[in-house]
Amino acid sequence: MKKNDAAECDYILKRIHEEILPLMDKAISDDSVLFNNDNLKTCWEEKNCDKEVCPVHSKNEHLRCWQIAGTYCGGKVQGFFAEKYKNCKACDIYTAACPTVVEELGEGLNNLLFLIRKQKRYNAKQLEEINHLNNELSSAIENLDTKNRAIQEMVITDKLTGLYNRNYLFTVLEDEISRCQRYNTTFSIFMIDIDDFKRVNDEFGHLVGDKLLASLGDVVKKVIRNTDRPFRYGGEEFVIILPETEPSIAIIIANRIRTAFEATIIEIDDGSGKKNISRTLSLGVAFYKKGATSQELLKQADTAMYTAKAEGKNKVIRFDFLD
Ligand code: GH3
Ligand code: MG
Ligand code: MG
Repeated sequence: MKKNDAAECDYILKRIHEEILPLMDKAISDDSVLFNNDNLKTCWEEKNCDKEVCPVHSKNEHLRCWQIAGTYCGGKVQGFFAEKYKNCKACDIYTAACPTVVEELGEGLNNLLFLIRKQKRYNAKQLEEINHLNNELSSAIENLDTKNRAIQEMVITDKLTGLYNRNYLFTVLEDEISRCQRYNTTFSIFMIDIDDFKRVNDEFGHLVGDKLLASLGDVVKKVIRNTDRPFRYGGEEFVIILPETEPSIAIIIANRIRTAFEATIIEIDDGSGKKNISRTLSLGVAFYKKGATSQELLKQADTAMYTAKAEGKNKVIRFDFLD
């Protein structure tokens, strides 16, 4: 090795130690680290290129031309990054930027960092997209869940009164019977029928009849507890299930419904002046005893309700007090 060559070699090694190795250390922890190449020339300036749309141009990303797979310069060294980088070593722009192995190493390091950052940006973008999709999916599921609940409510609700409907009564009744069998408890059931309701329809029309039915729904909702379940059983017949309710309490609640509805007045104007309409209720009350079926219980409550009608209406009758 000549003396000059040895000195050159020492110089390069010294620069690698002083410039490249600290850069590599720093690059591990700092995203903004780049090898600062004083010999760098830009292709668009050297070649007087006026294609300002090229990413290499200072008006754009101002990248080194060997850092992008495709340029706008006529396709001389286009292609995949690795392939292009290999070709770049034959290009005067690249060779001018890399007079010694230090610059070559530096550019190699820059390229590596460029690729890593590109990958990182890509991953961050993907992550953002995934998060966005996830959020959209969660809100769609939430929406669907809300709609599902609303539909389920609709399926079991009577539109006119806002109480549960007849179909749901049988589900709840069976559930309540199973629960009582398991825990050895009881529940009460009311059968309610509006007295002389047909005359309301006949005299004032169906709309007024509907209004009265809706007002009974409101009365029931106001009087019963959260745990009680009210149903519209048929036209003007209602059923209430009162879990864990002893006969003495059930009778008090039944009478509260009866008196509250008796006091409810519907105001109408049928053309011949204002009129107040009110009706009374007949209620039959039955109690679950071990082994009873839902049909038997409904029948018992119905029998008691018909006894109330037979005894003059506007009454509460207990089934187990009947002969
Ligand atoms: P009672 O005191 O014996 O119960 O006499 P009532 O007139 O109440 O009994 P009835 O069973 O003869 O009449 C019930 C009426 O309820 C007949 C029907 O037209 C009416 N009805 C049933 N469903 C509806 C409804 O959804 N809206 C209205 N407006 N009327 C209804
Ligand atoms: Mg009836
Ligand atoms: Mg009736």
